[in-house]
Amino acid sequence: MTTRRQLLAASGLALAGCATRPGRARLGHVVVVGGGFGGATAARYLKLWGGESVDVTLVERHAAFVSCPMSNLVIAGRGEMAGITHGYDGLARQGVKRVQGEVIALDPAARTLALADGRRLAWDRLILAPGIGFMTDGVPGLAAALDSGRAVHAWQAGAQTLLLRRQLQALPDGGVVLMSIPKAPYRCPPGPYERACLIAAYLRQVKPRAKLLVLDANPEVQSKKALFERAFADAHAGVLEYRPNAELQQVLPDGTARFEFEDVRA
Ligand SMILES: Cc1cc2nc3c(=O)[nH]c(=O)nc-3n(C[C@H](O)[C@H](O)[C@H](O)COP(=O)(O)OP(=O)(O)OC[C@H]3O[C@@H](n4cnc5c(N)ncnc54)[C@H](O)[C@@H]3O)c2cc1C
Repeated sequence: MTTRRQLLAASGLALAGCATRPGRARLGHVVVVGGGFGGATAARYLKLWGGESVDVTLVERHAAFVSCPMSNLVIAGRGEMAGITHGYDGLARQGVKRVQGEVIALDPAARTLALADGRRLAWDRLILAPGIGFMTDGVPGLAAALDSGRAVHAWQAGAQTLLLRRQLQALPDGGVVLMSIPKAPYRCPPGPYERACLIAAYLRQVKPRAKLLVLDANPEVQSKKALFERAFADAHAGVLEYRPNAELQQVLPDGTARFEFEDVRA
């Protein structure tokens, strides 16, 4: 098991005794970029364990954090955005300073970073926790479909979460929802299957003639296989149709999704 001492050592810091011991060495200024699960947790525990010997600043572009894992509840109409949105006041109460802004450049030699609004921030140690981006390069037409709102990924919680929820609400009873799962590895292996189940449950309840078509680029369910296969076959039979080995190749300008063996208009 990793101890807190090993964790701090691995992050380039060293504990100089416990937080209350006088005469403790200064650990300097640690800047954490990204206020998601990773960055916020790092900032919290550095300050908690480092106490007065460390200054911790969290840089995050958004004013609040929207939880990705809980976003499926909102998409399926079982929760509201307010319930999955969390401010950073708790970190501030623990002594973590916060800067809201977009980091656009790092200068490791000068140990500074630049923000989009022109501010610069100096650091002794830097933790980068910006998460991952959504890659559209491999699928021609996908970026344009996302820009126009025809397609929604909802893979970063926030505006996309609401957009997908509204599209589901606007879906006519009898309409078809298409979900395309990319080849692994991708963020959160069970995420798409969990989302499929929640959307199917919503459709069954609110739009019983609608269908959810899940086309998976992978040869089989990527996580908790037996559980999801049972849910697809039992709880969601008739609403959810799952097809493996179906990789999205292209999105046409009219919104048609092109797979290797078929075109789907949802
Ligand atoms: C639908 C779904 C369900 C999931 N369910 C689960 C689950 O049940 N359990 C689980 O453990 N995980 C789950 N995950 C995965 C989990 O959400 C991620 O692993 C986690 O969010 C990663 O945390 P992170 O801090 O690395 O990145 P993020 O949470 O993406 O946070 C990165 C932060 O950095 C900020 N940032 C990025 N670039 C900059 C910049 N240049 N300047 C300033 N700020 C910046 C972003 O605004 C963001 O707030 C799920 C994911 C999805 C999409």
